[in-house]
Amino acid sequence: MNGTTLDFDSKYLVLVTGGAGFIGSNLCEWLLSNGNRVRCLDNFATGKKENIEPFLSNNNFSLIEGDIRNLEDCQNACKDADYVLHQAALGSVPRSINDPITSNEVNVSGFLNMLTAARDAKVKRFVYAASSSTYGDSKGLPKVEDIIGKPLSPYAITKYVNELYADIFSKTYGIETIGLRYFNVFGRRQDPNGAYAAVIPKFVMQLMNHESPTINGDGSYSRDFTYIDNVVQMNILAMISNKKEAVNTVYNVAFGERTNLNDLVGLLKENLSVFDSEITKVNVIHGTNRQGDVPHSLASVEKAKNLLGYNPKYSIEEGLKEAVKWYWGNLRN
Ligand code: NAD
Repeated sequence: MNGTTLDFDSKYLVLVTGGAGFIGSNLCEWLLSNGNRVRCLDNFATGKKENIEPFLSNNNFSLIEGDIRNLEDCQNACKDADYVLHQAALGSVPRSINDPITSNEVNVSGFLNMLTAARDAKVKRFVYAASSSTYGDSKGLPKVEDIIGKPLSPYAITKYVNELYADIFSKTYGIETIGLRYFNVFGRRQDPNGAYAAVIPKFVMQLMNHESPTINGDGSYSRDFTYIDNVVQMNILAMISNKKEAVNTVYNVAFGERTNLNDLVGLLKENLSVFDSEITKVNVIHGTNRQGDVPHSLASVEKAKNLLGYNPKYSIEEGLKEAVKWYWGNLRN
C-alpha cells in the first residue's frame, strides 16, 4: 500500500480467510510486510496456491487448508487470533444465479461458522467482506450506507444476511464487527480466467491477446471501480480503529467516482497501448445486459473518511495504470 502511513502496532496474529484469493492475498502481503503474523484459511475453491507462494517460506505465515462450511476448521483457524479479516466467499452474481445453494452454504452458513468461531475465540474484532450488491434496486446515487434496496440476486442476499448476522452477534454477544461493502475491486492477482471472471482482468487479458471484449449492454452502465490498495487500507483501518462509534457498523469501500463501461475500455486500451500500440485497434462487441446487474453504482465514502480516516490514494486512472502493468508483466502469453 504505497504512500499510506498507518499508526500500526505490528504485533498481531491476523486470520485472513480466503487468503489465497485476490483480495485476501493482498491483505496477507500487507500484513506480513508490516511485521504481523498471518494465518490463512482457504479451500482453494477460487483461490490459488501461486497467490500465496511467496509467503510460504515466511515464518510469520501459516496456511490452514480448510473449508468455512466446516465449523471445526473455523475453530482451528481462529485459535489465538487477535483479528479476523473474513474474505472467504463465493463471489459473482451469475455464479449465485446458476447455483444459489452452494453460494448460500459458503456465504451464509460459512459466514455464520466463522462468526461463531471468532466469538468463541474472543478475537478483538471481526472485519468482513460485505458488498455493494446490498444496495440492490435502490436508485439513489451516491449510495449511502443507511439506504439500501431489495437484493437483485442470490449473491446479494447472502451478503446482506452477513450484515444482519454481524449486527445481531455484536448486539447479542458483544463481538466487535465491521462490514466493508466493497465496490468492484480490481488490481494485481485478480483472476482473469473462468466463467465468473470480473470485467477488468477479463478485458485486460482479451485486449492483450488482441481479442474483442464483449460489453454487456450499450456500455452506459457505470461502476465505482476501486483499486486494491484502497481496499487494503480500509481493512487495516477497520481492524485498528479505536473509536467506539466506528465499530459494529458497515462502510462503503470505493474511490467515490464512477466510470462507464465504454470509458473503462478506453482507459484500458490507452494503458495497454504503452506496451503494444496495436491494442488501440481492437474493437469492442456489445451484448445484452446481464440479469441481476444494477445499472449504476457510485459510493459515498464520507462515512469511512469521517469515522476511520479513510484516504483512498488511487483513482481508477492511477489504479488501472498499476493493474495493467502487473498483468502485462505477469500474465502475458
Ligand atoms: P476470490 O474468489 O479471489 O477470493 C475468495 C477466496 O475465498 C478464494 O481464495 C477461495 O478459494 C476462498 N473460499 C471460497 N470458498 C471457501 C470455503 N468454503 N472455505 C474456505 N475458503 C473459501 O474473490 P475476491 O474478489 O478476493 O473476494 C473476496 C471477498 O470480497 C469475497 O467475500 C467477495 O464476496 C467480496 N467482494 C469482492 C468484490 C470484488 O470486486 N472483488 C466486491 C464485493 C465483495
